[in-house]
Amino acid sequence: MAPALTAILPALKVWLVWLLAALGLIAKPRFLARTSETNPAKTEISESDFVVVRSGDFLKWACFRCPCGCGEKISLSLATNRRPSWRVSTDWFGRPTVAPSVWQRAGCYSHFWIRNGGVDWCPGTGKPYGGDGLSF
Ligand SMILES: [Zn+2]
Repeated sequence: MAPALTAILPALKVWLVWLLAALGLIAKPRFLARTSETNPAKTEISESDFVVVRSGDFLKWACFRCPCGCGEKISLSLATNRRPSWRVSTDWFGRPTVAPSVWQRAGCYSHFWIRNGGVDWCPGTGKPYGGDGLSF
């Protein structure tokens, strides 16, 4: 692929996702993934940002705003030698899927899955961490 196209392809995909969502052909994603070499500050994360912090091929963190609207920055460790750690995959459009679920240990106690760029709330969301899942 030509270098110029490689450079603009991520931006084209983002544009295409929002276009398809506007046309009603796909669900409007809550999150779209992008990568960064540095850990973003809270103010650098938009509502739809799902920032995968990486160093070369080594995935370090997934950072995004809590989808409940409280505005908290959530940082999930992607380092496989840490516990807990999460796995992130993205589809062609850059819509992230995260496993296992995310459960905030303080504040809003949100408990949810991120699948294909969307948020699936767990029945226990908003309640303190119960210990039956991995927690942030
Ligand atoms: Zn929240």
